[in-house]
Amino acid sequence: MNTNTLFLRLEGPLQAWGDQESKFVIRRTAEAPTKSGVIGMLCAALGVSRSEAAAEWLPKLSDLRMGVREDVPGVRWWDYHTVGAGMEMRIAEGEGKTKPGAMLTRREYLCDASFLVALQGEPTLIADLEAAIKAPKWTLYLGRKCCPPSRPLLEHPSGFFADLLSALASFPWRPRLKGDQPPQAMDCLLDWEPTSTQPEAPDDALVWYDVPLTFEPPAHRPRFVIRKELSIGPDGEVKIADKPAQNHTPGPPRPRANYGNTEYKKRRLERLEHDHHLCIFCKSYATTVQHVTYRHAGGEERLDELRSLCRLCHDAVTMIEYGLGMGLDRINPEEQRWREQIINKRVEITKFRSLETRRRRLQPEEVE
Ligand SMILES: [Zn+2]
Repeated sequence: MNTNTLFLRLEGPLQAWGDQESKFVIRRTAEAPTKSGVIGMLCAALGVSRSEAAAEWLPKLSDLRMGVREDVPGVRWWDYHTVGAGMEMRIAEGEGKTKPGAMLTRREYLCDASFLVALQGEPTLIADLEAAIKAPKWTLYLGRKCCPPSRPLLEHPSGFFADLLSALASFPWRPRLKGDQPPQAMDCLLDWEPTSTQPEAPDDALVWYDVPLTFEPPAHRPRFVIRKELSIGPDGEVKIADKPAQNHTPGPPRPRANYGNTEYKKRRLERLEHDHHLCIFCKSYATTVQHVTYRHAGGEERLDELRSLCRLCHDAVTMIEYGLGMGLDRINPEEQRWREQIINKRVEITKFRSLETRRRRLQPEEVE
């Protein structure tokens, strides 16, 4: 048997593929399944616990080459998630006034998305994984426990393919819901590895920190991901586009930074050194850097467009920003007008975290 590629269909009303930033109160999702999310699912199918995974399974599973085809990208959605009813919450009516209430946390989801995942590796490993997905030991879910798949995960047939893109092109596009029309093209996100003809990653390669080294505690290493396009014919047949990405007109700059960019990493370190590695708000040890503006994001940042912050102040500022729907210019935590709000949000988060720690001890199964 020469099968080197296994296919999974990840489809459901909700999916959530959290990344390293998705801790505590704000839990975001990546645009497509992450490697750690898919590997976590394979471990659940095999019946390998998070604490057991690191020694035997993670090195093997991390070596799988992964490609994801975005058949239906889905719509991003936040849920209204409350934790800790009965806590005293501050209210707007005046200094020190509180009412019993709950902490609102933010969880982001992809709604009605459909992804085709190709996993390439050693034939024996692929066969073991196929058997495990067919008869999973534990319940499988799409990134978060509240996201069940809406159909069996295995997509047939598995087979032998020279590369990830031709594997992903081997399945026709099919409507997920009645009336769905095929798009003209689909994006694919592919693991990139150096070859003799292309020893260095292309300039437009993305860096995703999602290859799991351990699940407990969560630690990830980066990988290069490249984006390719597949075109779709009127009957759903899929072809490798002749000139991928050539017809794309570049979109307007998005208000976000490229955290994997080497130039940005340099700027970030400069700013941390400038602030003596202290949070400019509370003077704790700073581990993060806040963008005051994204105007030059992506490596061109100026020193005064960044501020060093500790994790707690950074979470507080980010949460306030979410509520405001800000554009390129963000909160400058040094400005007096934000002071009170940041202090209040810090208190709220601290309370929430200690509450969540207690909850985790009480009900370990209930927590992601
Ligand atoms: Zn701080």
